This record gives sequence, C-alpha cells and structure tokens, in this order.
Amino acid sequence: MQSMEHVPRMVAEPATIDGGNPEAARWRERDLAVLWHPCTQMREHPHALPLVPIARGEGAWLVGHDGRRYLDAVGSWWTNLFGHAEPRIAAAIAKQAGTLEQVLLAGFGHEPAIELAEKLLAIAPKQAGREPPAKVFYADNGSAGVEVALKMAFHFFRNLGEERRSKFVALENGYHGETIGALSVGDIPLYRRTYAPLLAEALFAPSPDAYAARGGESAEQCAGRAADALAALFDRHPGEICALIVEPLVQCAGGMRMHHPAYLRRARQLCDANGAFLIADEIATGFGRTGTMFAFEQAGAMPDLMCVSKGLTGGFLPLAAVLATQQVYDAFLDDSRERAFLHSHSYTGNPLACAAALASLRIFESDGILERNRATAAKMARLADAFRGHPHVADVRQTGMIVAFELTRDGNRATPFPAEARVGLRAYRAALARGVVLRPLGDVLYWMPPYCIDDAQLALLAETTRAAIDEATACA
Ligand code: PMP
Repeated sequence: MQSMEHVPRMVAEPATIDGGNPEAARWRERDLAVLWHPCTQMREHPHALPLVPIARGEGAWLVGHDGRRYLDAVGSWWTNLFGHAEPRIAAAIAKQAGTLEQVLLAGFGHEPAIELAEKLLAIAPKQAGREPPAKVFYADNGSAGVEVALKMAFHFFRNLGEERRSKFVALENGYHGETIGALSVGDIPLYRRTYAPLLAEALFAPSPDAYAARGGESAEQCAGRAADALAALFDRHPGEICALIVEPLVQCAGGMRMHHPAYLRRARQLCDANGAFLIADEIATGFGRTGTMFAFEQAGAMPDLMCVSKGLTGGFLPLAAVLATQQVYDAFLDDSRERAFLHSHSYTGNPLACAAALASLRIFESDGILERNRATAAKMARLADAFRGHPHVADVRQTGMIVAFELTRDGNRATPFPAEARVGLRAYRAALARGVVLRPLGDVLYWMPPYCIDDAQLALLAETTRAAIDEATACA
C-alpha cells in the first residue's frame, strides 16, 4: 500500500534486529519459506531489510517473538487509531462473530452495515447550500473503495447520456491504491513506470504541495498557483472531465506532502463550474489524522464522493466505504440493470468489520478523541520543532497527527540525497534497532502514531528519530 522507491541494491548489513534470537529466527525462517511480502524486494530480506516476526500488539507497541518491543510510530500503515488489540473493538468483533459473521449484501442487509452507514452519513463533512451525503456503498479495502468512486462517477455521467465525460483528473504525486484503476490515477513514478502499459489514461494537475512553494511564496499562494493550473486543465478539456480525485491536505504515500486548504475550496468551485465531481480520498486522512474527523472539513467544503477505509475499523479489519449524494444515487435508478451500479465484492459490508467500525466511532465519542488529539498534536509540534535547523532536515511539517521530516544532504530542498545512499532505509534500520517503527517514504521520515501514544513514548519517538537521522546521514 505504500510506495518505497528503494531501487538501488543495498550493501549487506548487520544480520538481524533481534540479534538472532532463536524463537524469532525460527519464525523468520518459516516466514521466508512461504510468504511473499508486499511492496518488498524480497532479496533484501532478512539482512539489508530486517524482517521482524511479531507475536502480539499492546497499545502503541508491537511485540516481537524475541520479546522486543517496537513503538508503532506509523500506525501499521496508517490503519491503527487507538493502539493494538484495543479491548473494546476486540470485544465488539467477538460479539458480532457469535451473531452474524458474514452475509452477502445483495438482497440482504444487516444491523451493523445499516447502523454504520447512518453514523458515517451523520459525521461526514457538510457544506452550506449543498446536498449532504445520503448513501453509503461498501467495499473491502482502500483501493477497492477508490475503484468504486471512479466507476460511480463515470457511470453517473453515462446514465445521464454524457458519454464524453469520461476523463479523470488526479494530482501529481498523488496515490490512491494499487489496483489498476487506482494506480491509473496515482502518480508514484516507480509504479507508473512499471505498470504503464496497463494503466488507463488520466490527466494530471500540479500538486499544491507546499514543500514545492517557490521562493517567497506562501503555502496559500502555492495552492493558488496549483488551482490556477487546474482551472487551465479544465479549460483544455471542456465537457470531458467526469471527476477530480484528491487526497485532501496530505499526499501521504507521496511523502507526506501537505497543502493549504484553500486548494480544496478552489477545487470544489472548479469542479462545480465545470460540471465535474470532486472525489475525496480520505482513506489515509480520515478519522482524525489531520486534526479534524475528515480533512475536507478544514476547507469548509464537501466532496461529491468520499472514500474512507484504513482507520474506519480502528485498524482491526479491512473495510471501505464510499459516501455519495442523493443526486448521484438517483441517476442509477431505472428499470434497466445497465443503469444500476455494477460493483460487488464478496465481503462487501462484512458484519465483523462494520461492528469494529461502530466500536471505533463510539471510542471517538466516549474518549473525546479529537480533543485529546489536539493536545497530543501540540506536543508533537513542540518535539518536531527541535528538528528545525538540523543540518540534514530540509523541512519539518505537520497537519494534525501527522508530522514529516524531509531529509536532504545540506538541509535544503536543492540537495536531495542520491537514491543509492538509501538514507531512508538506513534511518528505518537505525530506528528499528532502537525499538521504534519509523518506516520512511523515500527520504521522508514521518510520525503517524496511534492516538494513545503517551508522553514517554513521544519522547522516545523524538529521541529515536534524531538518532536515526544522525546515523543514517553520517554515512551517506
Ligand atoms: N488511498 C490512499 C490515500 C491511501 O493512502 C491508500 C493506502 N495507503 C489507499 C488509497 C489504498 O488503500 P489500501 O491499501 O487499503 O488498498
């Protein structure tokens, strides 16, 4: 699910993080005998790239088979919200498993799917003067949710007889998943190069990424410049664009690149002016990561279609949902099956996953999570501030519960490390050896911890990040 442009071969490195503990070694051997891990050059396991067999999770910790504890500073690929094995979510899943574990959602419905849809519609971003979201379509992972939204937008216009409206606009440096449709609107260079012949054509607009701001330009001005380019793109394709898809506020897999909310407001206006849909991919940014329940809220705007997944179940089970307006839904109503939305996954709206999501949403309310996160985010800001001016840190940025550090040779944007130096990977290994999971995106280190992270863990995180940066950059 995450890009890792670790292309060049790595020199052989220390044996294992756990010092060859026999129990861990046995699991590693069995693992490598049968598993093909995601997004991994398997040749690098287990020496250049550690392979850590995990026995269990406890709060913000992952615990290895050797008994070592690893602070999960990346929330297990941004899925985990309240810590591992959160007992209330675990109990809700267990209860549901004893009642109804799965039923096909075509021709049948069930309480957790209905109740979750009601809750999601209630908490979704709203915008004065716009029709609120009214329907929920489930899928079973983030990429599948993106496929649903893309097909839904395309099919909507087809049902209206607007056959020319079949193009998607996506943002440079964006990421929306790894199925072929989702990859087609993604712009991670390694993936685009590798799978180019398979991809559907999409139009790409410049990213509003504030890290790319020109000298003297504010984040807002940078967003304005990107929005002007988007406007020009719409002008070049009148009546052809069915939707714009964006990761609101943070392009996560693209290196935690952040932008000003003004971009989303302009994007909303431009989509309206050009009769196109706005699809918000809140798969990574949703459920409190950016400081609000959904990132789009910070723009005071709402999308036509919103995709959520990852944190939806608190990080327990795969589930995705696409929220649509009544207007979208109504365009599919007819006597013909061809006009009906043609999409189904076997586990669509799985009751266990819906029960986990409901339990997760209850925790947001009972524990006042968004408010608590404001305090945690302020602490993260203070700790991150200490990295400003570091000789190898070109940028420290934060949106809510996401903090990122851009590592470069001379601490400025003009001097990225050469890819062969594999600074990110070196930092990853250095942090892991110190008991912190800081899986970088290229040379960007980031914090996206479970919300239960406490002060001592935050201090460990900051201290380890510094040590990892120092170690990784010393030999680059
Ligand atoms: N969209 C975004 C913004 C994501 O970050 C991701 C996953 N990193 C996806 C879509 C795809 O989700 P999944 O990995 O569940 O397919």
